[in-house]
Amino acid sequence: VTNENDRKALHPTALSAKEALGLDRTDKLTALADRGYFNGEQLHACCRENIITFVPQQGNQQHAGIPARGYWGEDFCYHPTTDSYRCPEGNALTTNGKWYIKDRIRKGGRYAYRVKHYKTTACLTCPVMHRCTQNKMGRLMERSEYAEAVEQNNKRVRLHTDIYLKRQQIVEHPFGTIKRAWGYAYTLLKGLEKVSADLGLVYLCYNLKRVMNILTVKRMLRKLQPALA
Ligand code: SF4
Repeated sequence: VTNENDRKALHPTALSAKEALGLDRTDKLTALADRGYFNGEQLHACCRENIITFVPQQGNQQHAGIPARGYWGEDFCYHPTTDSYRCPEGNALTTNGKWYIKDRIRKGGRYAYRVKHYKTTACLTCPVMHRCTQNKMGRLMERSEYAEAVEQNNKRVRLHTDIYLKRQQIVEHPFGTIKRAWGYAYTLLKGLEKVSADLGLVYLCYNLKRVMNILTVKRMLRKLQPALA
């Protein structure tokens, strides 16, 4: 349990888990996290180090500004061999191969990532253009440099709801204990720094208690020895 920003925590937390389990960076590890951890860059970093993620997508920006159902982002099929999209009307949207920088400000900070653009001139004579886009120049699809990792993750979440449900059983337990059993449903201090220190101590106590319960105090102290030496 930590009080770090969730959006940037998936990859470092999964790596720490690998280290704690004595696994090599290339060993396989499954990571379950709630939607607050969803971040393309983090999913991509996990993917590169054999960390199999199950993180539901936050919101659904693929629908933003699209006039009708049936023409949302997921209704366009990406073909990796030709690096192109096939639209619901069967036309191919192609790219000029250039990467464009996209700058975003979100809760937790500013971040930038690269996207490619895909379009087709067929839109200009398409009978359903009014259902597909509000852009008079035709539909523009964007594909981020992290899209492949995002798509693989989303597919796993969709196909294995049973695995993701385990997250609630495992992860909601600490918050139940901290908030209900220990009574830390609110903080007594004000300000990010003070609240962060306050909660950091609570989480440290929780983590120690949990480790003691799982390993026993004797084994925990033995494992801590190298760090204390
Ligand atoms: S508007 Fe363009 S992308 Fe949309 S369905 Fe028609 S041809 Fe395909």
